[in-house]
Amino acid sequence: MNPVIALVGRPNVGKSTLFNRLTRSRDALVADFPGLTRDRKYGNGILGGKTYTVIDTGGISGDEEGIDAAMAEQSLQAIDEADIVLFMVDGRSGLNVADEAIANHLRVNQKKTWLVVNKTDGLEEHSAMADFWQLGIGEPRSIAAAHGRNVTSLIEEVLEPFPERDPDLPADTGASGIHIGVIGRPNVGKSTLVNRLLGEDRVVVFDEAGTTRDAIEIPFERRGKPYVLVDTAGVRRRKNVREVAEKFSIIKTLEAIKECHVAVMVLDARSGLVEQDLHLLDYVLTSGRALVLAVNKWDGLEHEAKEKMRAEIKRRLGFADYAELHFISALHGTAVGDLYPSIERAFESANSHWSTNRLTNILRDAVEQHQPPMIHGRRIKLRMAHQGGTNPPIIVVHGNQTDSLPEAYKRYLTNTFRKVLKVRGTPMRFEFRSGK
Ligand code: GDP
Ligand code: GDP
Repeated sequence: MNPVIALVGRPNVGKSTLFNRLTRSRDALVADFPGLTRDRKYGNGILGGKTYTVIDTGGISGDEEGIDAAMAEQSLQAIDEADIVLFMVDGRSGLNVADEAIANHLRVNQKKTWLVVNKTDGLEEHSAMADFWQLGIGEPRSIAAAHGRNVTSLIEEVLEPFPERDPDLPADTGASGIHIGVIGRPNVGKSTLVNRLLGEDRVVVFDEAGTTRDAIEIPFERRGKPYVLVDTAGVRRRKNVREVAEKFSIIKTLEAIKECHVAVMVLDARSGLVEQDLHLLDYVLTSGRALVLAVNKWDGLEHEAKEKMRAEIKRRLGFADYAELHFISALHGTAVGDLYPSIERAFESANSHWSTNRLTNILRDAVEQHQPPMIHGRRIKLRMAHQGGTNPPIIVVHGNQTDSLPEAYKRYLTNTFRKVLKVRGTPMRFEFRSGK
């Protein structure tokens, strides 16, 4: 797992400026979960071969009431999730009572904390820093986030204790089989489902070497086939189900989505769909992950409730209609086994290869059935299609004036390809290119 750096400090000290600078690299993938985290922002960055995750927070003003209190709560949660805290203060406005209040909080926290004095551009550094020693957080470090001054050297030092990792390789235990990520907001039944999936008839191959590493992968077998569970609920570290689940962690969820082949998103039939579900799902979608939806806690509910839930999901999750939907009870094990065929299908669809010939034929048939429109008196031409990637599958369509292709026509093509290729459980991406 990436080392996690939380940016903490009162408003206006330059946290967002530093966040943007740290997540600007090629691999930066910014997850913004307004509903899930209020104003915590997550981003990835890479420096000198080391990858990291940064959390930006709303800020703590030290005098918390109302909205500020909510922001402070966000900061506290970010600190909780982090390995390292960068406590930012403003070198221009000098030491402030709010800074002292935050320092008091950070001193009792066990996290490795760096005191970062920002906006020292054009200041006489020595005197600008002097006051901040009394915060008792250690040596103040001077940076100018807006200009990037001293930022690289600071982050290099911060990351010193963490090992280098090839950013292209997931930090897995090398276990083979489809990697399944069980995700969802707190209390929907993830741990119960994970335990159920690992139930008695499966051989759990606990890999002790793996446990000492990122410890989020659980290899197991079902009917002679290997699978790997990517564990976000901390099930592996618990001795039994009754032990308290770990706190819901966005970081772990993001990591699991990144490292799994197929995400099983758990929804709660009893509470229905809430904002948090939509935001998580949105993230799964942007990441291009194959997906299976499991509506849990189905036990004891009436049939009408099922239709109601199905309609609500269709209405509100229309954008995820590629996913197969299951109604399960993790507690009783009902329909849990049905998830596997969907997981297999989603995995196969996501990793399919199709020949250029086949794709071009599908394109020709589709165009014949239903011509693209005329633009400025010329008909849009679509000539050829080939595959541009897998997981998710990318179809590249060549023609001319493709920039003018209406959205409705793109949807028609997407649906046609999906149907003919029998793609289920994975998003598909289309790219349109115009040639001469
Ligand atoms: P946040 O509220 O802590 O996220 O602070 P922002 O990143 O929004 O920055 C607050 C203000 O400080 C903005 O106007 C920035 O342009 C400015 N600022 C940020 N970093 C620097 C810096 O290194 N030098 C100077 N002079 N201004 C900065
Ligand atoms: P997590 O936070 O998503 O890992 O959720 P847990 O697995 O800890 O479950 C939260 C609560 O929901 C627990 O009290 C479970 O016993 C309960 N629960 C989980 N699955 C079911 C189910 O299928 N039916 C019912 N009725 N309750 C369930």
